[in-house]
Amino acid sequence: MAKSNAVPRKSVAVVACMDVRLDPMKIFGFDLGEAHIMRNAGGVVTEDMLRSLAISQRKMDTEEIWLLHHTDCGMSGLDNEAFLAELEETGGVRPAWYPHGFRDVEQDVRDSYHKLVDDPHVDARRVRGFVFDVHTGELREIGLGSRDAHGHPAERVLD
Ligand SMILES: [Zn+2]
Repeated sequence: MAKSNAVPRKSVAVVACMDVRLDPMKIFGFDLGEAHIMRNAGGVVTEDMLRSLAISQRKMDTEEIWLLHHTDCGMSGLDNEAFLAELEETGGVRPAWYPHGFRDVEQDVRDSYHKLVDDPHVDARRVRGFVFDVHTGELREIGLGSRDAHGHPAERVLD
């Protein structure tokens, strides 16, 4: 890929939920051309997010990953098993992917961070996590814990 004006000028890749009340460009004050914005239901770090992040970092020179989740998320409280059963019933087969519903939005930001740390193809040394309050418009940064020299969390909560 050619180094061109397609390279994000702020060297940031944002992984955000697709919620209609969330405008990552506006929330972070980015202009067009300054950051990659990657979105899906929940802002989940899926296989395809890892693919896009590897390309963003290796081919488009981004250096930081910002995770953007929010209050009142539709994925909060989604019953994963019930949803899979529903899809299996209507579609005849169980989907190959997992829905990734969650209970605690802050914990979900940390879980997403750990998925980045665990991926050998993504540089997770500079990751920030945020929760946006869709009612007040407040943006809160979530502590992701201290890290060792390799960027790995010094204290891991294993599940
Ligand atoms: Zn959401």
